[in-house]
Amino acid sequence: EYTDQEQMFGHPKGLFYLFFAELWERFSFYGMRALLTLYMVNVIFEALAERDFATAAVYASYGSLVYASTVIGGKISDQILGMRNSIFLGGILMALGHFVLAIENNMAFFLALSLIIVGNGFFKPNISTFVGTLYEKGDPKKDSGFTIFYMGINIGGWVAPLLCGWLAAKYGWHYGFGLAGIGMLTGLIFFWSGIKKNVFGNRGLPPNEEVMDKKIVGIPQGILVPILAVMAVPLIAFLLSSYESVATEGMFAGQNIVNVIFTGIGITVLAYLAYIMYKASLDERKKLFVAVLLTFFMTIFWGFHELSGSVITLFAARNIDLEGIMTAAQTNSLNSMFIIILAIPISMMWTWLSKKKSNPRTPYKFGLGLLFAGISFYVLAISGASANDNGLVPFAYLLLMYFLLSVGELFMSPVGLSKMTDLAPLRFIAFIMGVWFLSSAFAFQIVGFIGKQLAIESTDKNIGGLETLGVYTDGFMLIAKYALGAGLIVLVTSPLIKK
Ligand code: GLN
Repeated sequence: EYTDQEQMFGHPKGLFYLFFAELWERFSFYGMRALLTLYMVNVIFEALAERDFATAAVYASYGSLVYASTVIGGKISDQILGMRNSIFLGGILMALGHFVLAIENNMAFFLALSLIIVGNGFFKPNISTFVGTLYEKGDPKKDSGFTIFYMGINIGGWVAPLLCGWLAAKYGWHYGFGLAGIGMLTGLIFFWSGIKKNVFGNRGLPPNEEVMDKKIVGIPQGILVPILAVMAVPLIAFLLSSYESVATEGMFAGQNIVNVIFTGIGITVLAYLAYIMYKASLDERKKLFVAVLLTFFMTIFWGFHELSGSVITLFAARNIDLEGIMTAAQTNSLNSMFIIILAIPISMMWTWLSKKKSNPRTPYKFGLGLLFAGISFYVLAISGASANDNGLVPFAYLLLMYFLLSVGELFMSPVGLSKMTDLAPLRFIAFIMGVWFLSSAFAFQIVGFIGKQLAIESTDKNIGGLETLGVYTDGFMLIAKYALGAGLIVLVTSPLIKK
């Protein structure tokens, strides 16, 4: 064939090692995320009347930082560590984070979030670009390779909330978190065995050996990076936990620090991108411009989609009739379940459409994806009309909502992921992947904003039912309108982007 690698099921063998490594990493990530909001509302901020608000704030900062760190992790990988080392460093930090979460202590909680933030920065962008490097540029198989990879992500995202949610309900939160850590270690073992079996050729090595050994303040860079990464952990934990101390005093000024840092990262990255574009050739410049635009649209989509781990989990806990079906934490598995069911049919649809020369261009797909997000929130918005006397809505609404949202996701996320590895020049590919994940980082600012708007202040620990229903459904209606509006704008402007 056209690659130097051993093939398996028509794809490079390395894909399957990356598939399992990422499956388990996402298992840990989403197992933990399924518990996160409920754990904060019911344990960490339990004593506060404003616990929803504080939870939304910490959730947003965690989410923003966990994805913003990917720009830094990507850049360091391109220049110093290479993808393999970055993946190991990130994976170890993430596993540590999950194990620290298994400790019952509030300070440990923030330290753990921070370990996951730094770890994800090194892991996530690099495993994703690694997939891209297994294929030649323009290889038609690459898209389907990414679809398979995306399935792996979601197998983790499907099983983990079910298992961790079950453990948390039956034995306690910390067992759920602990299982997530075991998942992450399993992922690393898969990756390591791929390297041992030499399925990656010479991909993912540091850009050159000297760079690893080059000394700064007497320490080789290859050692300095992990040291600095570990040193960043308590710093970030301090920032995150300043929410708590500030929150107990009834003020929420602490979040501003993260927001300022965050805006700083945003501006720096934009400036750096402008610089790269300025230096690039005309063709590269056009491609980078498209990459930035797609990232921007993706931000809007994730801004609504990522509500699933916060507001929608709370809505499920308080207003969905889950009796005999699953726990609120476990509803986090529904999105991934639909991705698994739909990923192959939808990717086959693209192949079929390209054979007929009518595969819609990426911007069109993005516009449609946003419309699907809008419709999905519309479904939740009108669910209130079917509530029973206790203010509980049939589960079917949530199911339909996740179905539609997942269709929208498949029109955007895997398509974009694959496109990024095409659009970026190889020398800063992991960085551009980081920029792509920055869409999720900024999205969490939207999630935080909405989460705070829909925060319910109450001293009643079992609040829910008719007391909360209207707050949520009104909010969902507004979200639906914004998502539909954004989708229409993208559709109308997409002929321009195509040019
Ligand atoms: N669910 C996908 C993943 O975990 C996309 C997440 C994101 O980029 N926000 O990779």
